[in-house]
Amino acid sequence: MRANPLATVRNLGILAHVDAGKTTVTERILYATGTTHKRGEVHDGTTVTDYDPQERDRGITIFAAAVSCSWNGHRVNLIDTPGHVDFADEVERSLRVLDGAVAVFDAVAGVEPQSESVWRQADRHGVPRIAFVNKMDRAGADLDAAVASVRERLHPAPLAVQLPIGAQDTFTGVVDLVRMRALTWSDAGEAADPAPVPDALREEAARRRRMLEEAVAELHPGALEEFCDTGSLGDATLGSALRDLTRGGDAVVVLCGSAYRNRGIEPLLDAVLAYLPSPLDVPPVRGTRDDGSEQERAADPAAPLTALAFKVNATPTGRLTYLRIYSGTIEKGDTVWDATGRRAERIGRILRVRADRHAPLDRATAGDIVAVVGLKSARAGATLCAPDAPLLLEPPGAAEPVVSVA
Ligand code: GDP
Repeated sequence: MRANPLATVRNLGILAHVDAGKTTVTERILYATGTTHKRGEVHDGTTVTDYDPQERDRGITIFAAAVSCSWNGHRVNLIDTPGHVDFADEVERSLRVLDGAVAVFDAVAGVEPQSESVWRQADRHGVPRIAFVNKMDRAGADLDAAVASVRERLHPAPLAVQLPIGAQDTFTGVVDLVRMRALTWSDAGEAADPAPVPDALREEAARRRRMLEEAVAELHPGALEEFCDTGSLGDATLGSALRDLTRGGDAVVVLCGSAYRNRGIEPLLDAVLAYLPSPLDVPPVRGTRDDGSEQERAADPAAPLTALAFKVNATPTGRLTYLRIYSGTIEKGDTVWDATGRRAERIGRILRVRADRHAPLDRATAGDIVAVVGLKSARAGATLCAPDAPLLLEPPGAAEPVVSVA
């Protein structure tokens, strides 16, 4: 049987306190996945996801609400989440269209007040998360203290799956405690092949692996069974238990790195694929029918269309509507029903938005995030659905005006 292609999709958000490094992490992910070929720096105005007046004519990519990239045979749709709590509705909407998130923390500051509010919002939406402790190159960077602040202020079960190699200026890599190997980066940020754990760190790595196994066994019944039988956990059991605990919201896997120095991004992407859910692993979406009754729709391409327009941008390319498709399929030329504005609309072009270009698609299916050109009036917050099977995902009052970006 062919595997369901949806299993290789990750709809991912990056959540962070302002200044923790969300833009830099996003930029490095696009670089690592080969989506961008130059390394954008936050200070020189070349980043892809931030506003940059000089790049106005490139419109579509600069203001992308979601950018797709590929990693290890998977499609990662990176959804922009506004960092400011002032944009509460937008934050809520971006949280609802993603299936999992990376929470970025500053290795010196740890959990900050604003990280707490975004974290609580993500809790309300049941978004599974992993944590990335960034800025490990800074003076005073302390992974253990950051993990402790997560435990005290956000979640009782942060599970560090890495041990840093070096500190501050000499932070050159991590020991991967799940596979017990060393991952290091050159000064230029190029990843070396995985290597055995250095002798000097072997004892400490073994001690931390043991702590990780004990913590996981305490939280996961299957792991506990193996731990009781054999006195330890194999790599495969540890990995699948970490996946279950993350997806169930029972624990938060913690990784570390320095986005600025391009260290730690590849293992972060590996962890996104390994631990965070695909659209198939999340509960079906719920909406309201015209008669007021509720209905669920699963991520099935053959089901009636249900999609949320989560951002509408007026760009030089045209009016661009970003859609999260929860169920069904859209094709170029389809007529869909805007259940919020109560109008029929026609799908013009369907685009896969990438950092360097956008690729036209003939169709897009449940689980995916795409941009559509041709919708005339649907607003952010509008539900688009099959004309013969209307469903409303958000109350109509929540729809927002179009944002003009050029
Ligand atoms: P955002 O506000 O969360 O999007 O954060 P930015 O990505 O804009 O980063 C905020 C500041 O922290 C910028 O000056 C970055 O250059 C800096 N920064 C980001 N990542 C790192 C890092 O890994 N190490 C250090 N030392 N600085 C970083």
